[in-house]
Parts: sequence; structure tokens; C-alpha cells
Amino acid sequence: MTNLIDSALRFHELTPKRSPTASDDLGMRRWPEANCSLGRRAVVVGGGIGGPSGAGVLAGHFGEVVILERDYLPPSAMSRFGTPQDQHPHGLLAGGLRALDEIFPGFERVLATLGAVPVRIARDICFERADVGPLPQRDFGFVTLCASRPLIESTLRQQVEAITNVRLRRRSRATGIEPLTLGASLNRVRFIDGSVCAETIEADLVVDASGRGAPTLALLDSIGQQRPEITEIGVDLTYSTAVVPIPDDATDDWKIVLTQPDPPNLALHAVLLPTEDRRWIIAIAEHNAAAWVDSWDAFLDASRSLITRTVYKALRHAKPSDSIRHYRFPASTWKHFERLPGLPRGVLPLGDALCRFNPINGQGMSSAAQQALLLQDVSRGASMAPDPIAALQAGFMAQVASVLETPWALSTSADLAFPATRGERPDNFAETQQFEAALFRTAMADPLVHRTILAVSQLLQHHRVLHEPEILRRIEAVAPAPVFATSPLAWASAS
Ligand SMILES: Cc1cc2nc3c(=O)[nH]c(=O)nc-3n(C[C@H](O)[C@H](O)[C@H](O)COP(=O)(O)OP(=O)(O)OC[C@H]3O[C@@H](n4cnc5c(N)ncnc54)[C@H](O)[C@@H]3O)c2cc1C
Repeated sequence: MTNLIDSALRFHELTPKRSPTASDDLGMRRWPEANCSLGRRAVVVGGGIGGPSGAGVLAGHFGEVVILERDYLPPSAMSRFGTPQDQHPHGLLAGGLRALDEIFPGFERVLATLGAVPVRIARDICFERADVGPLPQRDFGFVTLCASRPLIESTLRQQVEAITNVRLRRRSRATGIEPLTLGASLNRVRFIDGSVCAETIEADLVVDASGRGAPTLALLDSIGQQRPEITEIGVDLTYSTAVVPIPDDATDDWKIVLTQPDPPNLALHAVLLPTEDRRWIIAIAEHNAAAWVDSWDAFLDASRSLITRTVYKALRHAKPSDSIRHYRFPASTWKHFERLPGLPRGVLPLGDALCRFNPINGQGMSSAAQQALLLQDVSRGASMAPDPIAALQAGFMAQVASVLETPWALSTSADLAFPATRGERPDNFAETQQFEAALFRTAMADPLVHRTILAVSQLLQHHRVLHEPEILRRIEAVAPAPVFATSPLAWASAS
């Protein structure tokens, strides 16, 4: 077996968990080994997931980090205006949880203490595909946590606000990044404090974690620099979400249900997750939906139309949800800032500002956290460079695609299987689909392949690990039907 596959199987040992320390406790102030190796001040626009994650990293390299967040930000775990998506299921993948725990040591323990539900992968997950049915619920010995988005976000906020040189300015809406004047090295960010007072703040580095990247795009426009190319995969997905108390007689066969669609015929997905308050949050999402699912009865009806009745059976005796919440997600978008010849000095986009994924695969928060972790790796080297800020920007942009490739490939290849999905299909798209189907067929019988698929889909491994010779040999052994014109090995080496 190759080293790569070996490491895929032992990924949980590759990043050993730190032993908890006293300062990991909730609410305890944390003095980072702050130094000004990268600069005096960093400003982060956005207090969602990417912003606090990035600020947690930068606190070790700047004298001060200021987060500007336009929302009021409730003191506890509550939905808020600036993140309307927070009313829908938000799965945190094992790779994202690992990244957050590395940035904020003890994050995982604190989230669990606050009621997040531990989920053993794949023991507690009912994952259903149209071609192979439910995947075996093997216990691979690693865990992720399920909680509402407001709890995940407020826990992150508590962690970042406990760092002594981080200041979170609520109700502070960034209105623009001023172009640098000749010879200046500090950026100036304009913002409105509260509802009236216009201010500016200077920073060596501005991280744009505003979700849409509007401040960075406006800056590019104002200095006449080209905007990044955008790869867009139009999915037109409509979310309908219900929240119900978990019935007392709920099955303990699973804690999560993920029901896949059946392209091109059936465009309905379902995600059912437990939250910290003994409730289920359930989304039924449809591509190109003709109408809203706007009542509990309609929601139950929709759950009956999925590829299986698992979600319907779980919900039919549940207390009806008070309301059905909606969200329309038009397209996954990757703004290729990394392809620009350069970024304006001292400006870095991060999180959704760079890349927004179809949310049904639960990748956005985890990817934002992993991008922040990349910032951590790059910061260490950049601080030794003659121009640390330029080195940080260049280092991050040179490597960020490697963080985005796996979630992007997984989500877009699933979406492109629907003929109505807008976007360019790769030349070998049909073979890629066949390869994926063969992988899952093999995973039914082969725990090693199953576990490797999970390592990739939980963003713990790059997706290239699925093309390792050992995996291809196993596909050939278990799925002898000729799925490729040539053998899987020959196909993979040619692709
Ligand atoms: C329906 C739906 C379901 C989803 N489900 C999942 C899931 O299951 N798992 C998952 O990992 N991801 C999921 N996502 C994606 C996830 O929400 C995002 O990927 C993630 O929040 C990205 O973090 P971010 O920090 O980049 O952006 P956000 O979390 O959106 O934060 C941006 C912040 O910037 C603030 N802001 C914006 N403009 C300004 C300004 N000018 N000045 C100051 N502040 C500003 C906003 O108020 C907000 O707080 C889902 C998304 C949707 C739409």
C-alpha cells in the first residue's frame, strides 16, 4: 500500500490532538505570543466564520487585530440579519473542526460542552445514494460535532474575543478600502460606526471576510485593476428548512441523515442534523424548484418524494415545525483572485469572499477555517521575508487553490450531473461520473475505500488520494463490471 493511502487511512493520527491546557477553558483571556512580525495592525472585515478564524491566526503576528462587523451580534447563540443562512442546517466537517481546534486550541471541547452533538463517522450517519442505497455505517473511530450555525459562530466569537489583542467592533460597516497613495504602505478602511459616525482605520493588512468580497472588488475597480475571472456553476437550489423537537422514540440507528438526489431524474436532497437543543434541523433542497414548500404538510410531502422514506419516517410523528424557512442559492462561484498578477498591497480575500460552494455539501465554514489555517502556515514564513506583507499575500495566493480544489471538485461534479446546471463540463466528465459510481460501489464492500472517500469528503485529505493505485486496484477487484473503456488504472493515469 502506498504511503499516500496509508496516510489517508491514518489521517486522524497525522494531526494529533493537543492535550487541553488551562487556557482552553471557556471565556478565559488568552494572551497570544503577539509580536509585530507582520505589522502593527490587521483589520478583518466580517465577523462570520472566516473573519474570526483569520483574526485568531493574525493575533499572533500583529500588534492588534480589529474585526469590523456590520451586525449588532447577539451575546448568545441567535440568528442575525447579516447571515440569513444561519437558519438552515450547518454541518461542520471533520476537517473544519480540526482547523478551528488548531487555531483556537480547545474549540472542539468548548463546543461539545455547550451541547454540540458528537457524531461518529460513519457509524451515526445514514448516507443514502440512488445507485447503491444506504452506505454501511462502519465506525471509523473519528468524530465531528453537530450544532446550530448560531452556536458554532458564537463559540468562535467567544474564542476570538478572549484573545487580548483582538477587538471586535460590532455595528461597524466597512464602506470601502481606500487606494494606497504613492509611497504609503498602510491601507485605510472606511467604516460607519453605529448608524451615523464615519471613521477610518489604518492597517498593514486588510482581510476581506465579508462573504461577497465587495470591499476588495470595489478597491480593484477604484484603482482600475482587473477583477478576477469567476468560475460559476449555476445550481439554482432552493432550501426549505424545518426545525422539530427530536421525538422521544426517535431511532438510535443514526444521528444524521444525508439523502442524495438521483440525477438527472430527481433533483431533491435532504439533510437532517441534530442541534444542541435536542432538535432536528432538516433541509429539503431542490434544483430549479417550481414552487416554495411553505407548510409542514408540503414539507412532509416533499420528504416522501426523496429517493428513500428515511426522512419521512423520522418526521411523520414529529411535532410539526412552526414555520418553513427558505433560502435560494443561485450558483457556486470561485473568484480566481489567485490568478491575478497581484492583489492591491495589503489586501486578502478569505472564505466566501473567495469561493462560495453549493451549501448542500456543508463545506463553506470548513473551507473558510482551512483557509485561515493556511494563513497561519504562510504567516510563519512571511515574517522572515524582507517585505512580510507582500510575502504573506503571495504565499497565501500561491497555495489557496490547493485548499479549495477538493470541496470545489466534490460539489461541482455532483451538480453538473443535472443537465439544467449552468457551467462548463470537463471533457472527461462522463468518465468522472463513472469513476465516482465505481468508488461508491466498491465502498459498499471495502472499508478502506469507504474510509478514504470519507477522509476526502470530510476535507481531511485532498481528492487526488482517490486516484491512488491502491484505490484503483480495489475498485477493479470489487467492481469487476467494466466501468471504463480501459482499466481504472490506465484511465486515472491518463486523466
Ligand atoms: C442555506 C445555506 C446553508 C449552508 N450550510 C452550510 C453547512 O451545512 N456547512 C457549512 O460549512 N457551510 C454552510 N453554508 C455556507 C456557510 O454559511 C458559509 O460558507 C460561511 O459562513 C462562510 O463564512 P464567511 O466568514 O466567509 O462569510 P459569512 O459567514 O457570511 O460572514 C460574513 C460576515 O461579514 C459581515 N459583513 C458583510 N459585509 C460587511 C461590511 N461591509 N462591513 C462589515 N461586516 C460585513 C456579515 O454581516 C457577516 O457577518 C451554508 C450556506 C447557505 C446559504
